[in-house]
Amino acid sequence: MSAITNHLPTAELQALDAAHHMHPFTTGNELAEKGARVIMRAKGVTLTDSEGNEILDGMAGLWCVNIGYGREELAEVAARQIRELPFYNTFFQTTHVPAIALASKLAELAPGDLNHVFFAGSGSEANDTNIRMVRTYWAMKGKPSKSIIISRKNAYHGSSMGSGSLGGMTYMHAQGGMPIPDIHHINQPHWWAEGGDSTPAEFGLARARELETAIGELGEDRVAAFIAEPIQGAGGVIIPPETYWPEIQRICDKYEILLIADEVICGFGRTGNWFGSQTLGIRPDIMTIAKGLSSGYAPIGGSIVSDEVAGVIGSGEFNHGYTYSGHPVASAVALENLRILEEENVIDHVRDVAGPYMKEKWQALADHPLVGEARIVGLMGSIALTPHKESRAKFASDEGTVGLICRERCFANNLVMRHVGDRMVMSPPLVIQPTEIDTMIDRAGRALDECYAEVK
Ligand code: PLP
Repeated sequence: MSAITNHLPTAELQALDAAHHMHPFTTGNELAEKGARVIMRAKGVTLTDSEGNEILDGMAGLWCVNIGYGREELAEVAARQIRELPFYNTFFQTTHVPAIALASKLAELAPGDLNHVFFAGSGSEANDTNIRMVRTYWAMKGKPSKSIIISRKNAYHGSSMGSGSLGGMTYMHAQGGMPIPDIHHINQPHWWAEGGDSTPAEFGLARARELETAIGELGEDRVAAFIAEPIQGAGGVIIPPETYWPEIQRICDKYEILLIADEVICGFGRTGNWFGSQTLGIRPDIMTIAKGLSSGYAPIGGSIVSDEVAGVIGSGEFNHGYTYSGHPVASAVALENLRILEEENVIDHVRDVAGPYMKEKWQALADHPLVGEARIVGLMGSIALTPHKESRAKFASDEGTVGLICRERCFANNLVMRHVGDRMVMSPPLVIQPTEIDTMIDRAGRALDECYAEVK
């Protein structure tokens, strides 16, 4: 076999890819027929594919490249760390400086008394940690029956058996024997799709109170924790009504249910604060982190844990850990990423410049005949595609058909947007500048026009 390099023609790369590389969330036949898009390099907010197309990345990779592509500082930190200490574990009472420094920095940045970090290699692993951690916490407090974790339908918390079970995506549960026992799902606060005749405020309260009802039905002595993203990302960037989170917080406090905020997408500036919990006014006991923690430059995730939970867990041995928990190279890269976010005021940029600018442009998309609602917080936004705005109607075609057409029209216009059913979502690198936002919105508008011409 000849060497596989950047210089091979696209068709050859695609054929080898289809023959040997199994992709997440992709149909094998589709790969063989159409081939995957081959991304070669990236800089700032722009990807270059194997055909030389320059594509604006409206998704920051997979909601993760918060500082944008091509930052030399991270390459240098990684190279230095690989030379000095490429690996050592954090099991059995050993540690190293990158893990100490990163944990300390996260304790400084995280709100309240979230002062302790358990590292993982990804968001999925971190949520698996959370399942074991909250159950162990209650068992160590003499309440082993408190093992049920309540989550939400249409939530995404990862793909492992544990995190996929926490997630509420039924098409995922249909494969591989999920959910694991003692996971319960309540409805999501998705007013646009499910709110009927109620106002968003009424609906937000009603959906939050489903948590109280579930606790009543399952038994207060059985429920360990509630997990949710401040704003659902992969579920379609669903921004809850303002009444939702205060009521959830009240219920968790009242029944002493641990609150896990999954900050894998919302964390590290996405919503205009360090964490989505701060934007939405949530006081979690545990936060799941990954993605923006290293801006995707190295695989790393973790759980940031309160003094109370860490104190209880630390009073015994937590028989849990990953080879790459606190990996020195990933930790060093993440720390450098946090330095850039902080010293370059990237979060202020989201809150004061890029976020408000994008919001203005985004909301203008709501005037498009294909668009029902267009909502955005910080730099995570969604638009609902609909054949009839007033009634918030669905298309007659199978859910996702129009969304897929729209996504393909975005690609044809050199823009990456993702579709979740018939919702289009956007989550660009946080360093995006107003002129780049203009181009992005122009391309999104063109894609919508083309999609409309095809489906009307
Ligand atoms: N939690 C949320 C909210 C996510 O969006 C994701 C991934 O998209 C995960 C957890 C899983 O993270 P990972 O893919 O790093 O395992």
